Amino acid sequence: SGPGIAGLIAGLAVDVPDFPQPGIVFKDLTPLFADGAAFREIVDATVAHYGVGSFDVVAGIEARGFVMAAAMAYAAGVGVVPVRKAGKLPRATHAAQYALEYGSAALEVHTDAFLPGQRVLVVDDVLATGGTAEATLGLVERAGGVVAGLTVMLELEFLGGRQRLAAHPPHALLRV
Ligand code: AMP
Repeated sequence: SGPGIAGLIAGLAVDVPDFPQPGIVFKDLTPLFADGAAFREIVDATVAHYGVGSFDVVAGIEARGFVMAAAMAYAAGVGVVPVRKAGKLPRATHAAQYALEYGSAALEVHTDAFLPGQRVLVVDDVLATGGTAEATLGLVERAGGVVAGLTVMLELEFLGGRQRLAAHPPHALLRV
C-alpha cells in the first residue's frame, strides 16, 4: 500500500506563504487535482466515506469546490449544484453574507437549486475558519435541501472551523 490518502494529500499540497495576504499560509491543492491517480483517489475516497445512495446531489463551493463536486457527482451518478460568489448566478437566489479573516464575502444559491428534502453533500477544498462552510449549509437549508454531509480535502484545525459546525461535523481527508 502507498502513503494513504492523508499522506497523498500532504505530499501534493503546496504551502504558499503570505498568499493572498501577509501572514496567511495558503494551501494550494491544485497539484492534487492535476495528478490523475491522486485526483481519482481523493474523489473515490470521499464518495466512499458517505456511500453512494446516501446523498441526492453534491453542492460545490466556488471555485475549487466545483472541481471536487463535479467529479464526486459523476462518480455517484447524481447532479451537481454550484454555490457561487455574489452576482454570478443569473436567476433568483438566496444569499448569505459572512465574515472573513479580513472583511466579508457573500455566497448565493438558486432558490430552486434543490427539490424539497433533497439530501445535499457539500464540498470545498479547504476548511479554514468555517465561515464559508457555515454560510453554505445555511443556504442549502434555506433552499429546501437537507444537509447530508460536509466534506473537505484539508482541514486547518488551528482555525477552529469544526467548533462552529457542530450540527454537521465535517469530514476531512487530512487534518493539520
Ligand atoms: P473559511 O475561513 O473556512 O471560510 O475559508 C474561506 C475559503 O477560503 C474556503 O473556501 C477555503 O477553501 C479558502 N481558504 C481559507 N484559508 C485557506 C488557506 N490557508 N489555504 C487555502 N484555502 C484557504
